[in-house]
Amino acid sequence: MSNFTLKLCRKCGQSFPATTEHFYQEKKKSGGPTFCSPCIPCRQATARTAASTRYHDNPELYHSRRANRSEDQKEAKRKYNQRWSYQNRQQKAERSRNRAVSPEAAVRRDRAKVVRAKESRARASRPYKSRDLIVIAGRQQGFCYYCQRPFDFAGLSRPTVDHRTPKARGGTDDLDNIVLACLNCNQRKGPKTADEFQAYLREYP
Ligand SMILES: [Zn+2]
Ligand SMILES: [Zn+2]
Repeated sequence: MSNFTLKLCRKCGQSFPATTEHFYQEKKKSGGPTFCSPCIPCRQATARTAASTRYHDNPELYHSRRANRSEDQKEAKRKYNQRWSYQNRQQKAERSRNRAVSPEAAVRRDRAKVVRAKESRARASRPYKSRDLIVIAGRQQGFCYYCQRPFDFAGLSRPTVDHRTPKARGGTDDLDNIVLACLNCNQRKGPKTADEFQAYLREYP
């Protein structure tokens, strides 16, 4: 019987023998992992969420970190990708079979992916964030700022971001210049200011 030391998991606060059965790796000089095996997925999820919020609020940070990766990190990333490809080889094979069976669908999926990436970049670089829009939506209680009709998920009643003073006429992205308007109102408003459009709506409701 080897003599083992008890090791405290910093996540759940329970002590386990410092073996690979309870911890991912053997105890190292540096002390090894401080989270027991069942707690590791939980810790990883927390770290991922923290990283993605950090990078989402700060896309430049992500790109600079990416550009400044060391050769070791790049090599580790290549190894990781190789391992991932091997572990998911069935899924990959299925994807390439689908691609052979229906190239049009694959092209459609690829295009959709490009569009999603573009939208995501646009979201990350605009000065107001989704959480600001949620606050504005709450302020309007789910109704269009101009016609006071309730929003819908799709079609002409879907909510869009509207600048009270249009950006083309010197409006800013400040939150007091931003309201949510249904697509119909947004299209009818065009380059008018909020006051001009409200006068227009009284005349042509
Ligand atoms: Zn634990
Ligand atoms: Zn409206």
